[in-house]
Parts: sequence; C-alpha cells; structure tokens
Amino acid sequence: MARNAASIPLQEKERESSLTAHHDRVRSCDAMTEKKPNLIGLDLDEMTQALTALGLEKYRAKQIWSAVYCFGARDFASMTTLSKDTRTLLAEHFTLDRPSVALGQKSEDGTQKWLLRMEDGHEVECVHIPEEDRGSLCVSSQIGCVMRCAFCHTGTQNLVRNLTASEIIGQVMVARDVLGEWPKPGKKNQDAPPKPGRKGPLDPRFLTNIVVMGMGEPLYNYDNVAKALRIAMHSDGIGIGRRRITLSTSGVVPMIRRCGDDLGVNLAISLHAVTDVLRDVLVPINRKYPIKDLLHACRDYPAAGNSRRITFEYVMLKGVNDSLADARQLVRLLRGIPAKINLIPFNPWPGSPYACSDWPTIEKFGDVVNAAGYASPIRMPRGRDIMAACGQLKSASRKLSAAERVKLEKP
Ligand code: SAH
Ligand code: SF4
Repeated sequence: MARNAASIPLQEKERESSLTAHHDRVRSCDAMTEKKPNLIGLDLDEMTQALTALGLEKYRAKQIWSAVYCFGARDFASMTTLSKDTRTLLAEHFTLDRPSVALGQKSEDGTQKWLLRMEDGHEVECVHIPEEDRGSLCVSSQIGCVMRCAFCHTGTQNLVRNLTASEIIGQVMVARDVLGEWPKPGKKNQDAPPKPGRKGPLDPRFLTNIVVMGMGEPLYNYDNVAKALRIAMHSDGIGIGRRRITLSTSGVVPMIRRCGDDLGVNLAISLHAVTDVLRDVLVPINRKYPIKDLLHACRDYPAAGNSRRITFEYVMLKGVNDSLADARQLVRLLRGIPAKINLIPFNPWPGSPYACSDWPTIEKFGDVVNAAGYASPIRMPRGRDIMAACGQLKSASRKLSAAERVKLEKP
C-alpha cells in the first residue's frame, strides 16, 4: 500500500511525543526511586557540608543539627524556626528516616524490647532497661554476628551485615521517640535526664546510658559504631557522655586501644573462662587472641582507672566454668587491672546447649569474687520473659541471595 505522505510526519510526531512522555515517566520514576540522603547518621561537619552545599548558612546547619539530635525532629515541617521555603527545600533533598518498630514488647520488670526494621527489610533488636537511677539502652552493632560464641543466641545466626552509623544512632532516636523523652525546644535543661547516681523515683522514660551489648561484635564494625557514638556524645545533641557509654567486646584485641584513644568510653570484656582451653570453645575468637593478649590490652586501656573500671563479664554455665577453682583463678588473672566483675546467670534460649549454674553455686562463686574486693558481682537478668536478656537477642534476618537483593533494589 502506498504511504500517505502527509501521515508520515504526523506518525513521527506522535511517536516522538509519546517517546518524550515515556522518558518523562522514566525520569520521574527514577526520581521516585532515587534515594534522598538521610540526615540522621551525619556528624556535625558532614551535616554542615551537606546543608551549605544546598545554599544554607552555617548557623542554619547548626540549628538543623540541634533540631534533629537535641529535640528529635521527625520531619522538616516541624522546624518552625526555619522559613517555609527552607523547610520545603530540605524536604526535597533529605530525609530524617529512622528504623521502624516492627514489634515492641514490655517485660514484667519494665524492660522493653523493640524489633527494629531497617530500610532493606532486615531487623535487629534493641532493649531499654530502666533502673532506679538510670535508663540504659542496649544497642546492636551488626545484624547477626560472625563470632559464634557457644552460649549466645545471636551467635547461632550468621552475620548478615554491619549496621550503618545511621542505623546505630537511629536505635537511640527511636527509643527516645517511643519513650517520649525528647526535650521541647526552650526546655532543654529542665527536661534533661537526671545525673547518674542521683537516686530518684523509678522513671522508665529516662535514657541516660548506652551499652553497646546488643547483637553483633562492635569492634568488627568499628568505624560505624565510633561515628554513631560520637554523634550520641555531642553535647549540643543527644549529649550522652563517654562515661555513660559502655562498649562490650568478645576480645578483638587490636581494636581495643584504638577504641580507648578515640572514644574514651567504658570497656566491657566478655571473658567467660579463665583458661585458653575452655575460652577457645566458649568464645572462639580466643584462638586468635588468647587471654594473655586480651588482658594485656586491658592493662593498656587508656580510658580505664580506679574511678572507671573495666567490666569483665562472666556467664555462669552449669558444670562448665563455675567451680571455686575457676573463681580463684579469675581474681588472680585480673590482679592489677582496675576491674569490675559481672557474673551473669546464663540466659537460656530455645535449643541452647548449656544450663545456668545453680543459685547456691553462683553465690559461692560470688563470695570468692567478693572476698577479693569486687562489690555486688552478680548481675540479675532483666527482661528474660520477653527474651531481652543478655545473649537472647536474635532476629529472623538472614543474608539475602543475589536475586533477592536485586529484587529489593529494583522494585
Ligand atoms: N558481642 C559483644 C556484645 C554483645 S553480647 C560481646 O560479646 O561482648 C553482651 C554480653 O552478653 C556478652 O558478655 C555476652 O558474652 C553475654 N551473653 C551472650 N549470650 C549470653 C547468654 N545466653 N546468657 C548470658 N549472657 C550472655
Ligand atoms: Fe557475637 Fe557477642 Fe554473641 Fe559472641 S557473645 S556471638 S561476640 S554477640
């Protein structure tokens, strides 16, 4: 059939305009799927850089930092000290996303556990433990753990991935959101948490301390943990000082000194055995860094002293590490180190291969430790009924296959 000369350009025009419309749709889809950067997880320098690049003045960046980390702003619309245009501009370029709470549980002793879902769908657990004079938040540093300590529930899960600084500090922010304890602008001091050591009525809202004792080995994700803790410590933001932060490690010896030099936080060591033969089994990283090297690093820890002792955690496993000879060897090993000893009754989990030592055995062990000058060494488990106690955390997250990752990235 002969072609209609007049219809050719029309068809091309139509094709062209439909192509343009298609490209516009693709572009707007790209814009929709293109992730806006999250301000949460940026330190003050990075936030200043990001905001000044957008044309904001430096003092505005400080104002926004304070709105985010001091007052817990969840959206830009609530930042009423900024003009409407600035708020719109910020919302167009950034988010203030936190992990979402997939599940919250409260123990009969007031301990709360939250299952937090990250943007890629993986989950970690985070626990708030209210005490008379403080409230501690136990944060996770990794999804899963590579260490495989024999008595730990997290250790039965493979390492899925490291948490980002944003996801680590995000746990603190979510806890403050849920506990409803962000100060109102202008009331910063009035609403500040009580000073540690001040005895007051039990107030489960207060988040005064951070313990990096949740899922994962924090010294295997050092950069992200350090960045998140620096943000938490900043006095114009969340303001939880280094003396109120404790980092617990299974014994990544080469990173211990750096942690003390850089961060100066309190250190806790998961010791759990007094001989290398047993520790090799209970805490397998001991095969790489044996007890002698670990204790040497502790003696050298720059942020320790008589007023800031290193905590040695010792899980009480029936018939495994709980003899009086073990107790005597424990105090002998720690001689000369400014130390606190925490005897942790083993917290069971489904299918765990160990049992908790009997109470009289724990007490007798505690007496030996006590007689050596360590006060109140037995740590009562908190939140056992909701599986929130030490070593009971485990998420259903698993490493995604390559195909699953592609599916998530390209919805
Ligand atoms: N990965 C870090 C911090 C998280 S574990 C570390 O190992 O230090 C926090 C503490 O709980 C550690 O001392 C750990 O050894 C201990 N723990 C693990 N499983 C436990 C269990 N089932 N019962 C009691 N304590 C446990
Ligand atoms: Fe990992 Fe700590 Fe559990 Fe060991 S005790 S498996 S290091 S979370």
